[in-house]
Amino acid sequence: MFKKILIANRGEIALRVIRACQEMGIASVAVHSTADADAMHVRMADESVCIGPPSGTLSYLSVPNIISACEITGAEAIHPGYGFLSENAAFVQALEDHEITFIGPSSAHIRMMGDKITAKETMINLGVPCVPGSDGGVPDLAAARKVAESMGYPVIVKATAGGGGRGMKLAKTAKDLDTAFSSARSEAKAAFGNDEVYIEKYLQKPRHIEVQVFGDGKGRAVHLGERDCSLQRRHQKVFEEAPSPAIDAETRARIGKTCADAIAEMGYSGAGTIEFLYEDGEFYFIEMNTRLQVEHPVTEAVYDVDLVREQILVAAGEGMTMQQENLLPRGHAIECRINAEKLPDFRPSPGRIAAFHAPGGLGVRMDSALYQGYSIPPYYDSLIGKLIVFGQDRPTALARLRRALGELIVDGVDTTTPLFHALLDEPDIQTGNYTIHWLEKWLESNT
Ligand code: ADP
Repeated sequence: MFKKILIANRGEIALRVIRACQEMGIASVAVHSTADADAMHVRMADESVCIGPPSGTLSYLSVPNIISACEITGAEAIHPGYGFLSENAAFVQALEDHEITFIGPSSAHIRMMGDKITAKETMINLGVPCVPGSDGGVPDLAAARKVAESMGYPVIVKATAGGGGRGMKLAKTAKDLDTAFSSARSEAKAAFGNDEVYIEKYLQKPRHIEVQVFGDGKGRAVHLGERDCSLQRRHQKVFEEAPSPAIDAETRARIGKTCADAIAEMGYSGAGTIEFLYEDGEFYFIEMNTRLQVEHPVTEAVYDVDLVREQILVAAGEGMTMQQENLLPRGHAIECRINAEKLPDFRPSPGRIAAFHAPGGLGVRMDSALYQGYSIPPYYDSLIGKLIVFGQDRPTALARLRRALGELIVDGVDTTTPLFHALLDEPDIQTGNYTIHWLEKWLESNT
């Protein structure tokens, strides 16, 4: 087993990994920018190294600085968390060259899934159902028109290198295609340095259902059911639950097996998520994330597993302890992403935390790096905490969520907590009757 792991991230996910290290008797190294010198992950780790100025590009995204931090501290492995370098194949390649273990899949698998066209082709070949769309990249507007007409409108133009909902544009009719195509391309060029785009049929009322998978890198793989992440704003998840109110045990077993078989065949190592849109009983693959997801705690609650521990065991060559026949879902879990943002327009609200109280009690987990007196810097993502509740069934989880939200105190900055209080009053949320468009429509008529 590793003696020391460096965590190339910040915020709640860095804490999540440090906690797993502590339980496994592994020393942890935090890295931080100058803006994060007082951050909780620095305080909680056994050691810390400053890797640069506030700008993420010059610190948390700086491959040479992170590798130097590993060499200085003697860390043998790096956990990337999510975001930052977690899906950066060049980073993983650099670690492979320096003989530092990356806690995650191989650079080859990251590269394969990071390019969405290659990812779709791979999944089609592995028998995973995909959204109908163009055969690979679409070079120009004339080609885009041809594909869109053959599929029928509406269509969505998406960046091959996309992520975080960027470089994605809807064309409801033929007259929107020109603008959608050129703006998707320019947004993709600006965000990813790659303007290749492809076209998909735009599904009108799907749910976002994603399957948690895990591979041992030697051809064995399991699935841990699905998460429903349909409640989104600007293609970004806001509220996630497991299991999905729309999936029954037979469907779960079927799609789960398809996904586990696919990654077993690939020889995939570590945690991954296969994302689908689900409409009228059919699954359509959209992308695979080759890392731990923000919303992994709802799966941990329902399957009673520690996914970070499993990631570390597999990366250390000790194998995966999970066996498919022992992975039985139980109860219901919900996660709310608490952001430091001011409603109704979700404007970032950085600043000093005057008071912080995390909710507790039965079935409540609060993953947050906040503390009283901490100043949320303006440079990074606005996620300040994840409130996860677990209960024996969905109504219990919803009641617990209402109770836990009532206990949460974050004074000094604005947060998205009031949004969740309001959502819990909605009959559609109470019954689980929502699609990926529900929240945007609700926000339009309620703000
Ligand atoms: P990203 O990598 O940028 O997050 P995804 O491909 O995962 O992009 O899509 C993010 C979200 O965008 C989905 O959860 C869904 O809400 C919406 N979306 C993506 N593809 C389609 C599609 N073909 N039809 C309708 N909505 C889509």
